[in-house]
Amino acid sequence: MAGAFCTSDLAEELIKMLECRVCREIMKPPIVQCMSGHNICNKCYLQLGFDPCPVCRLKKTEVRNLLAEKMCQKILYPCKNSGCAEALLLMDMVRHEVNCNFRIFDCPINRLCLWKGMLSNILRHAETAHGTSVWHEDSSRTTASDFSESFLETTLVSSVGEIFVWHCEYSFENSKFLGALKYIGPMENASKFTYVFKLSKDGNRQTVKFKNIAIKETDSFSEVFHEMDSCVTLDYSTIVRRFMNGTRLNYQLSVKICV
Ligand SMILES: [Zn+2]
Ligand SMILES: [Zn+2]
Ligand SMILES: [Zn+2]
Ligand SMILES: [Zn+2]
Repeated sequence: MAGAFCTSDLAEELIKMLECRVCREIMKPPIVQCMSGHNICNKCYLQLGFDPCPVCRLKKTEVRNLLAEKMCQKILYPCKNSGCAEALLLMDMVRHEVNCNFRIFDCPINRLCLWKGMLSNILRHAETAHGTSVWHEDSSRTTASDFSESFLETTLVSSVGEIFVWHCEYSFENSKFLGALKYIGPMENASKFTYVFKLSKDGNRQTVKFKNIAIKETDSFSEVFHEMDSCVTLDYSTIVRRFMNGTRLNYQLSVKICV
C-alpha cells in the first residue's frame, strides 16, 4: 500500500469509468466484458442477445469485472424516480426505492383498478375515477350507504398533511363492524400515526372510541381484519342497538402524529 495517493477528483473519474459503454448509464452489478475488455451493463448485455460488443464488434463474454463491481459499492446512485433528489449507496437504494415518495403508486381504492401514478395525484384520481369524496381531518362523516350486512366503504382521508385510506365493512365471519386506517407513504412511517375512531348517535351523548396505529401500505385490510389486530372491532348487535342514525352511522376519525 506504500506510495499510493488519491486525487480529489477520483470520485468523479470513478463515476465516469462506471458508465456503460452502450447506454451511458452508471452500471450496477453484475458487470460483464467483451473480448477487448469493454464493460457492459447487465440490461444492455441481455438486450444485445447474440449481437457482438457495439464498441469493438468482438464477442461478448460472461466474464465479470469484479473490480468494477466493487467500485459500484462505493459510489452514490441517484434515485430512479423523477423528482426525488436522494442519492444513496446501492445497498441502501433498494430499500429507498420501495419507500420513495416519488415512486409510482398503485390505486389505493380498488385493487382491480389499473391506475398508477404519483402520490400527489392520488386524491384527484380517487375523486374522478371512483367518486370517492376525500374526507378531511376531524370532520364527522355519515356512511354513504346503509349499515346492513352488505356494508362496505372505502374513503380517502387527508389529514396531518398525509394521505390515508379508511376502509370499514361488516364481517360475516364474526358479525362485527371492522375498520382500519392505512397510511399511504413510506412503510416505516406508518407506525408514527395513531387515529381515534369515534362512533356517536345524534341527540345522544353516548359514544364509543377506539385508538389504533395506522397500518402499512403493504398490509391488506382482509388480513388485518382476519387477525382482528390494529383495527376497530365492534359487535354488529351493539351498533344496531345503540348507534344507528336511521339506517346509517355517524363517525369521526382524528389522526395524530406520535411523538
Ligand atoms: Zn447499458
Ligand atoms: Zn468491446
Ligand atoms: Zn427516491
Ligand atoms: Zn383507481
